[in-house]
Amino acid sequence: EQSQARPTVIWLHFQECTGCTESLLRATHPTVESLILDLISLDYSETLLAAAGHQAEQALADSIARNRGNFILVVEGSVPMRDGGIYCKVARKTPQEMLHEIAPQAAAVVAIGSCASWGGVQSAAPNPTEAVGIPVAFEREGITKSDGSPLPVITLPGCPASPYNLLSTVLYYLTLKRLPELDAKGRPLFAYGRLIHENCERRPHFDAGRFAEEFGDEGHRKGWCLYKLGCKGPETYANCPAIEFGDVGANTWPVGIGHPCFGCAEQGVGFHKALHDQA
Ligand code: SF4
Ligand code: SF4
Repeated sequence: EQSQARPTVIWLHFQECTGCTESLLRATHPTVESLILDLISLDYSETLLAAAGHQAEQALADSIARNRGNFILVVEGSVPMRDGGIYCKVARKTPQEMLHEIAPQAAAVVAIGSCASWGGVQSAAPNPTEAVGIPVAFEREGITKSDGSPLPVITLPGCPASPYNLLSTVLYYLTLKRLPELDAKGRPLFAYGRLIHENCERRPHFDAGRFAEEFGDEGHRKGWCLYKLGCKGPETYANCPAIEFGDVGANTWPVGIGHPCFGCAEQGVGFHKALHDQA
């Protein structure tokens, strides 16, 4: 009865830095306390669970048994495909083993962050563990729902992902009992439907040809467009200019504080592209 009122969330960590969880911990509307105590039932999270070891694993097994077909599985981190996944084990299980066991029982899967969406930093050349994101891991491992139907995977790229995109996705599901509309890469359109460049407060400067040419120059100090400093806003789909980042005041997102967007939310763009291009 409780799981009907508060959807159950099981949260797995694979190859990653835990930055996405850290970012969620700092959300303030709602706070993570209100999220996990009032809105969802977070039954398993290696970072946030009070239990540890066998108790934690038991909580996971009990939750799956209780909520078969009804829980949301959140995955943070990439899956190492090399050598059957032995580079990332939790409770002696590889990510592949955990996904085969848990994912087919989930109602939907949320791949949070760029790692879980497409491999992220760990998939940088020469990608020693053959890190991939959850959609590719499911495809290669042939993971579906337990009845054989496709398992919906929502990707929320970003490094870290904006916690509000996770909260909005979960609250959307909670309120409307269905998943939000997604684009071809599995990203919710409400969050990734527009280019950063379309919604950036510095866009009038771009349109008028006013650019910062160097960090600290007059244009930079006046808040002009950062395109010539490498801004990837014109290639990156994300809602950072609209919802900002970090909850520490107005204009708190990279461009707002004078740093070009480096395309963390877009596969093949910016620093991820640079990492992949390394020989
Ligand atoms: Fe960390 Fe970035 Fe991966 Fe999130 S996407 S877990 S912040 S490396
Ligand atoms: Fe576009 Fe970046 Fe300039 Fe903003 S700072 S207008 S996103 S190029």
